[in-house]
Amino acid sequence: MNDLPGISVVVPLYNEEEVISTLFDRLDALIHSFAGPAIEIVLVNDGSSDRTAELILNKASADINYTAVSLSRNFGHQNAVTAGIEIASGTLGLMIIDGDLQDPPELLTQFYQEFTKGYEVVYAIRENRKENILKRMSYSLFYRILNSVSKIDLPLDSGDFCFIGRRVADQLIAMPEESRYLRGLRAWIGFKQIGITYSRESRHAGESKYTFSKLLKLAHDGLYNFSDVPLKLMTSVGTYGILISIAYFVYVLFARLYTDQVPTGFTTLIMVVIFFGCVQLLSLGIIGQYIIRIFFQVKGRPLYIIDKVKSHYYNGKV
Ligand code: UDP
Ligand code: MG
Repeated sequence: MNDLPGISVVVPLYNEEEVISTLFDRLDALIHSFAGPAIEIVLVNDGSSDRTAELILNKASADINYTAVSLSRNFGHQNAVTAGIEIASGTLGLMIIDGDLQDPPELLTQFYQEFTKGYEVVYAIRENRKENILKRMSYSLFYRILNSVSKIDLPLDSGDFCFIGRRVADQLIAMPEESRYLRGLRAWIGFKQIGITYSRESRHAGESKYTFSKLLKLAHDGLYNFSDVPLKLMTSVGTYGILISIAYFVYVLFARLYTDQVPTGFTTLIMVVIFFGCVQLLSLGIIGQYIIRIFFQVKGRPLYIIDKVKSHYYNGKV
């Protein structure tokens, strides 16, 4: 049996061929300069249509410090990271980074320092983002809303860039949750956690691989998996709607019986009908969000399917 590495660095990659050679340079430098346990790099190709798969498999063939996993299709960032976590051999812990070098790999030194102080989760907090103002504002607003409605304390302005101890990684692996919001699950697991700030670079090359619909899905997964506030909101809107209707009903009845100023107005009537029709549709949609998650969960399909693995350490079946 090979001597297992102490730390694994998990890197999900989706159509990142433009970044890969710089990424390898930075990771090679990290492997050689890091003053700590041996490092294994786990590269996960999330069904790229460019040369990403070939490039990472070649790298893993040439360099035993690299493990390459290629998924059978695009399963999405969260599932690609999950695949990496499951395959990683790091006995002490794992670092999770983006492949576009927005997260500096060199932060491992600080992460590991905190880990040795007893923190099982060390997450990175973005001090500033070099992205457009609209994206920055939406992120910031979303994290604040999510934090105020979720049952657990989700750290603000922290993404998936983090270091997790082996115990936390094992817990994540044991979670069968289908629509994964890893930063939420990570907070949910508990143990001692700490955040360290860093400045988020802009993407090294290429375009963001998170399309608007993928981002929306992530936001929904965060919201519906960690909060029941949308359901409660429906109940409140319904209750207040009924109270207001009853008050209006009493007023109309009173006006009809004791005065001759009965309210008229077809327009008002139509608007009220449309309004409540929409409230009902919205409520059905919210219930639907929870039901669809139950639906996918009970099917129990695997979170990802592996096509190829090249690894010096990983002996699992494919
Ligand atoms: N990614 C992935 N699968 C996807 C989308 C993205 O593995 O379906 C990877 C991508 O290659 C990158 C990381 O996830 O390494 C973060 O994506 P990106 O940089 O495009 O997101 P952004 O930083 O714009 O939020
Ligand atoms: Mg990025």
